[in-house]
Amino acid sequence: MTAANAHYYATRDPLGVGGDFTTAPEISQMFGELIGLWAADLWDRAGRPDAAWVECGPGRGTLTADALRAAAKAGFTPPVHFVETSPVLRAEQAKRVGGATWHDDVTTLPEGQPLIVIANEFFDALPIRQLVRTREGWAERFVACQDTLFVPIAGKPVPPEIIPDTLRDAAPGSIIETSPASVAIFRALARRIAQQGGAILTIDYGYEGPAVGDTLQAVRGHAFANPFDHPGDNDLTAHVDLATLAAAAAKEGAVPSPVVGQGALLRALGIDARAAALARATPERAESIAADRIRLVEDMGTLFRALAITAPGWPQPAGFA
Ligand code: SAH
Repeated sequence: MTAANAHYYATRDPLGVGGDFTTAPEISQMFGELIGLWAADLWDRAGRPDAAWVECGPGRGTLTADALRAAAKAGFTPPVHFVETSPVLRAEQAKRVGGATWHDDVTTLPEGQPLIVIANEFFDALPIRQLVRTREGWAERFVACQDTLFVPIAGKPVPPEIIPDTLRDAAPGSIIETSPASVAIFRALARRIAQQGGAILTIDYGYEGPAVGDTLQAVRGHAFANPFDHPGDNDLTAHVDLATLAAAAAKEGAVPSPVVGQGALLRALGIDARAAALARATPERAESIAADRIRLVEDMGTLFRALAITAPGWPQPAGFA
């Protein structure tokens, strides 16, 4: 999954109608704008520190462009840092956001100042591991090659003690997922927040584990595909266990919010008022603005979930009460 997604993202811009999938910031400017105002409000209530803006996996850079345009109106004009591995997408980001600094990973992010970190549909692109319950017990799921086909198989048995109590006796065929790569990155970010101040906002197709379920998914041309076919040419994702990320952040001394649906968050941040204002300003677009609002708030409203992390002593982030 690591190698397949690295190749996939390095070789194309997968977003939008002509690509493989569409994300919230590509649906409407309202998404990025509200996140920008969320950040500006938090920064303001934290006493307007000299903070940096960080986006992990910025895609085309649309979210940051919309966010910082809105945040600037509230006086928040931070320097921009992007964590992005794809050269194709770095070029897209440079078209929309001037003066950004790029990072291959989170280790080189600035030190000594608060960081406001945004990650939308980033952690779902990171590799997972799967454990499968067989008749004999739990085993790690491996990928085998049969002739020219990749297929999932039960591999090495794992000790039952590593399976959460509530799931140990799940029926044969049950699958549990973990994402050590996501936890490691989230922990590193949370450690920075705890030490330097700031916040993380992550929004993803998420659940609150532990839970059983096979969420590995491949998408190509806006349709589902077999994740084991054409590795590197499909978008591979898995749902994000936000409870595990929250617990990992708490271990680093950062403060996790409750997990809320994307719809509830956007409503609390004022999407209805923003949609009404945009429709008044551009009456010819009123219908499409209304449709975009419904997509963000209703269609994606509970499947996509948000988690915020703040530094100890920082104010509570808006929208998570
Ligand atoms: N956040 C954007 C794009 C989501 S697609 C949006 O909502 O539209 C996932 C993004 O994460 C892409 O920009 C991809 O290149 C980037 N990405 C994937 N794996 C990565 C990794 N290991 N390190 C850094 N960026 C990665």
